[in-house]
Amino acid sequence: MMEFRSLEDLLDLQAVDLEIDRLLYQRQNLPALEQYKIAAAEVAQLDVLITDVTGRIRENDLVVDRAEGELTITEIKLEQEERRLYAGGLSARDAEHLRAEVDMLRRRISQREDEILALIDERELQDAEAADLDGRRSVASTTQGGLENEIATAWKAIDGDIARAEVRKADIIPLIPAELLETYEQLRPIKEGVAIGRLADDQCGGCHLRLTAAEQSQVAKSDPPRCPHCRRLLAP
Ligand SMILES: [Zn+2]
Repeated sequence: MMEFRSLEDLLDLQAVDLEIDRLLYQRQNLPALEQYKIAAAEVAQLDVLITDVTGRIRENDLVVDRAEGELTITEIKLEQEERRLYAGGLSARDAEHLRAEVDMLRRRISQREDEILALIDERELQDAEAADLDGRRSVASTTQGGLENEIATAWKAIDGDIARAEVRKADIIPLIPAELLETYEQLRPIKEGVAIGRLADDQCGGCHLRLTAAEQSQVAKSDPPRCPHCRRLLAP
């Protein structure tokens, strides 16, 4: 009878172990975890795009600075040449030469101004792109943060359930003989978590196969009793 009592305790232990298995599975397979991965990947992808557009903005600014610097130099040069031209006292040939130079400088200034305007237009587009990306990143990041909280809350609840199950498990374990416990621990990983079944309606509770009367009396005589079909422990 002691043995039967131990088998009953082992069934209780298995129920707790199966619950812990279920809780651990639940912990690792929260729907929010998958959503979190998607949100985190989106944030990371947006960060790449933001880095890219920020780099292009910086480059554009450098090009604008350079073009503006060149424009200023050309404007100063134009002013000097115009002053020389208007001061007069030049030979017709030199005046002609200087007029051509002034025309060339004016064309260059106009060209530079057009270039700078195009760069400023480009910069506006880049600013709009950056603002759009920042907005999307902010939404994705908020989603990610919300999911993080959701996961933390769910994990806390599950961990509480696991801790309570572990307490029940610790209460049951001392009731079971060490040898039987060892057999149970060896069988559980290779029997989908079910190391012991109850014999009911002539069926093994583990593999659900039928046992003949002869097999049942054989099982009752063996220590510990095990199913002849699946070799699980069998509680009568
Ligand atoms: Zn069986």
